[in-house]
Amino acid sequence: MYKSLIILLIILISSQGKLIGQSNSTYIKAGYLYDSKNNKLLKNKLIHVKGTKIISVGDFESLPENNQVIDLTEYTVLPGLIDAHTHVLFSQDAKEDFAEHSMKSLTMESDALRVLRGAKRAKSYLDQGITSIKELGNSGLYLDIALRDAINEGTLEGPRIFASGPILAANGGQIYGVLPKYQNIINTEYRIVTSPEDAKNAVREHVNQNVDLIKICADNIPNKTYLTIEEIKSIVEIAQSYNLKVTAHCVTNQSAWNAIEAGVDGIEHGFNLADSTLIKMAEKKVYLVPTENSKSYMKTYAKLAGYKTNDLGWIDNYLNRLEDRLRRAIEKGVTIVAGSDNYTDIKVSRGESSKDMFRYYFEAGMKPLNILQSSTYISAYQLGRENEIGYIFPEANADIIAVKGDIINDFISTMANVEFVMKDGEVYFNKIKISSNQTR
Ligand SMILES: [Zn+2]
Repeated sequence: MYKSLIILLIILISSQGKLIGQSNSTYIKAGYLYDSKNNKLLKNKLIHVKGTKIISVGDFESLPENNQVIDLTEYTVLPGLIDAHTHVLFSQDAKEDFAEHSMKSLTMESDALRVLRGAKRAKSYLDQGITSIKELGNSGLYLDIALRDAINEGTLEGPRIFASGPILAANGGQIYGVLPKYQNIINTEYRIVTSPEDAKNAVREHVNQNVDLIKICADNIPNKTYLTIEEIKSIVEIAQSYNLKVTAHCVTNQSAWNAIEAGVDGIEHGFNLADSTLIKMAEKKVYLVPTENSKSYMKTYAKLAGYKTNDLGWIDNYLNRLEDRLRRAIEKGVTIVAGSDNYTDIKVSRGESSKDMFRYYFEAGMKPLNILQSSTYISAYQLGRENEIGYIFPEANADIIAVKGDIINDFISTMANVEFVMKDGEVYFNKIKISSNQTR
């Protein structure tokens, strides 16, 4: 038994090198290339892709003859974008209540149907040039892991998924108003943590299901329960021992403070962060994923949710408050990671809906290149994957996209014009001709 396992491992390890060696080369000529690590645009660069990997980045002059060339000289070439906060296995109508929808999904939507629906939503990210997503729970019992594996093995087309498994939360999770006798249903959506010792085991359970990171709910608003600092510390300690990052959903300022004190890597949402908390985040290098939406998205949402059109002043107030929070975070030196958290059905594909985050960050005053860095290199770095994704650099995965337009002076419409998407060296879609020969 053990012997055959060892032989299998040796075969697996030794065959990896061969697979890469046998594949063909492609060269991409980029009119502009976004260097996401140094946050600048480079002119006229040549990217050599072989198999699933980037081999080199050089100048046009280094193009060898008789190779496949993808001519993107009229385009800006970017690393595949990353949405750091998604829920592809969850969708609710604008008029629906979150807790009611969750209970309905958990009791009336089979896992099979849920994951098939999620697969369609996941694929739509590729159409927008988002080649990686961080899937942060509300995905049943590890359905996110199943979807990730199906995509990785080539059964389905979709973005690279980094999956958290069920969210670790205090009693009740985020599903409010559920009677005691039905609390067991919540255990099929959240991993309820009952003590610091139990918190350790929760992480270990996730490790055995091969999660990529740990997501916690530091608070459960509108449920009043929250994880204690001791419980979050236990989670962080065990997660770190398995080299897993921990990111914390925080609505209240107090829960964010607790999570930062306990050593988490990131704060999701952070709608109510005080200056003192932001300063602590900057000091401890804890990142923030602001998950707001643009004004036009909010108007669409309000209409679908049935708000009266003459009663939309709350949108301005809401956005002003959150823009102020984002500005203060940037001023204090907090690292910003781009994430959408869009799970409401606003009658466009999920990928398109999620891309609204670029419009929001732009409207909130972030500069185009900083937004791009928050959705590429910085996002990958905070996941500990900066050598694999989010950066067009030798040995990284060949996740490469191209947009048409002036990315500095016309950011929003340029980001809407994604005309080329490659993931893992495979062209997912391409509105541009591929030629072979070639002139230098
Ligand atoms: Zn979320």
